[in-house]
Amino acid sequence: MDTHCHLQADRFIGDVDLVLGGARLAGVERILVPGWDVESSTNALALVARFPWLDAAVGVHPHDAANVDDAAWRGLAAQADDERVVAIGETGLDYDRVFSPVADQLANLRRNLALALETGKPAILHCRSADGRRDAQEALVAELRLAGFGGAASMAAFGERPPAIIHSYSGPVDFARAVVDMGLAVSISGLAFRAGEEATAEAVRLVPASRLLVETDSPYLSPPGAPRKRNEPEWVRVTAAWVADQIGSDPRTLGDALVRAYDLVFPRAGRAATGG
Ligand SMILES: [Zn+2]
Repeated sequence: MDTHCHLQADRFIGDVDLVLGGARLAGVERILVPGWDVESSTNALALVARFPWLDAAVGVHPHDAANVDDAAWRGLAAQADDERVVAIGETGLDYDRVFSPVADQLANLRRNLALALETGKPAILHCRSADGRRDAQEALVAELRLAGFGGAASMAAFGERPPAIIHSYSGPVDFARAVVDMGLAVSISGLAFRAGEEATAEAVRLVPASRLLVETDSPYLSPPGAPRKRNEPEWVRVTAAWVADQIGSDPRTLGDALVRAYDLVFPRAGRAATGG
């Protein structure tokens, strides 16, 4: 499975069906296509209309936080009720590149988190600090607590299900501990292989199997061996094999656990059969 794959990105125009064929041949049974702004959220749903075995998420990325006005947000939020939308996102905080001012990122994060609680669909969270810093992680944990995640609000909306996912995990080990304690799920990407991200190996071992996920973040974050120009969902197997190593599992057992975790975190009534 690939919990985070931007198949609606420009780089997939023209051959998305071949990319999906490659993913199926590699054994990928679930793919979640998250939006990052209004248009890409609409396009995620359009892709699920074409390929019913995919799932969509709608939301606004911190990079685009300053570019979505209230009317556009209302349009996006209305799409969240669609049964093919299994999560809200991606949203979060990026204090590394700061393409949108921090105040806009916080306002954007708050309304995405509120929509997750309102719909009972988990929030997909991007969280990045500049090298050697942890201010985004600290701010995100504070915002989650303020919104009631890990407390009564998320318990009422989600029960025992994870109310949010830390996508493309990055950060110190105690950040993993904090989000796992709040009941969140954690998704590992090709970022784990980069210098400076060594803490991810230890973070992986803290996450309960039922909340441990993997992703490509295609077309970005190619793991070793994948084409640098365009990552694709089939390369999730490289990251999954690495995760299996970290937790001392064999890849096949982990693969089964990952699909079970995906279905627990992103339940979808009438999920289309994958065709085996
Ligand atoms: Zn992404």
